[in-house]
Amino acid sequence: YDLRDEDLKDLHELGQGNGGSVKKVEHVPSRTIMAKKIVLIDAKPSVRKQILRELQIMHDCHSEYIISFYGAFLSDPNICICMEFMDKGSLDGIYKQIGPIDIEVVAKVAHHVLEGLTYLYDVHRIIHRDIKPSNILCNSKGQIKICDFGVSGELINSIADTFVGTSTYMSPERIQGAQYTVKSDVWSLGISLIELALGRFPFSESASDDDSDLSEFEGTLSPARPVPLEKKKKGDSKDRKRDRRKSRGVSLQGGGMTMSILELLQHIVNEPAPKLTPEGRFPKEAEDFVNSCLLKEPDHRRTPKDLLNHEWIKHARSARFDLEAWASTF
Ligand code: ATP
Ligand code: MG
Repeated sequence: YDLRDEDLKDLHELGQGNGGSVKKVEHVPSRTIMAKKIVLIDAKPSVRKQILRELQIMHDCHSEYIISFYGAFLSDPNICICMEFMDKGSLDGIYKQIGPIDIEVVAKVAHHVLEGLTYLYDVHRIIHRDIKPSNILCNSKGQIKICDFGVSGELINSIADTFVGTSTYMSPERIQGAQYTVKSDVWSLGISLIELALGRFPFSESASDDDSDLSEFEGTLSPARPVPLEKKKKGDSKDRKRDRRKSRGVSLQGGGMTMSILELLQHIVNEPAPKLTPEGRFPKEAEDFVNSCLLKEPDHRRTPKDLLNHEWIKHARSARFDLEAWASTF
């Protein structure tokens, strides 16, 4: 495809993230339906061209577990990335619509994400960097694929400059400033799988040291998506806590952003990792798989390729579970 903005007809908006928005469009000359991601990049023209060059690697990514890429172009001040349209949307939207996802489906998700991560790393030396339910997409054929992986170093840098990169799916070692590795993606996968199986963000009830509900931190943290602290019932102790936070200078953007992102990040670093709960509700192998994704020490955590040999994944691979039939239920 030789993509030009004037050949793309907007159909409707699919969703908005921190970095920009995604629209369903039709490429009129070829009558192809696509998803067009519009990313606002506040960078010099030379940097934008560099990003565009780097994105071209996606033309070489061919896997049934990875969203297909149609092309990217500059459309001042945005970068547009056109990709395969997935008609059932992302897994976060799906569980918010239908509730907790069956563990058989979660097993398939785990398998497909591991295949996608292994392909990206083994063939292209790409680390995903943003595994989470909104970046795992599903279509009515029952295919499950990952999108939004970090192909462009310059794009990652530009976005990092705007703070959008701090995600609650981030591994403890990343929070502490270590390099990204494929094992950081494995942590994010573990958090995502628990979220799908429980139908809620896993940090929402586990905060052990106090009664704070961390569910409102779900997703990527960003000044663009401030969380008003006033939403919470304020008890005395919380007020005091907030004052302490303020004095520590945690406030990220004045006003509504005085809350402690730092507190959640510290929680991830210092507290035990979340689990599939209650114990016994899910198959032992599923519990074991998730626990091994969520080993806090990256040296102990396995790689995506290695985890493809986990018993739970081997079962998922051979299971006759019909994802197409499942996808037709919503
Ligand atoms: P964040 O910006 O924090 O990463 P996000 O992943 O939700 O969050 P976007 O990547 O901008 O943000 O995507 C917005 C929404 O658009 C997604 O949640 C998803 O539901 C939808 N979407 C993205 N890509 C596609 C696609 N290829 N096909 C169908 N829907 C898509
Ligand atoms: Mg996304």
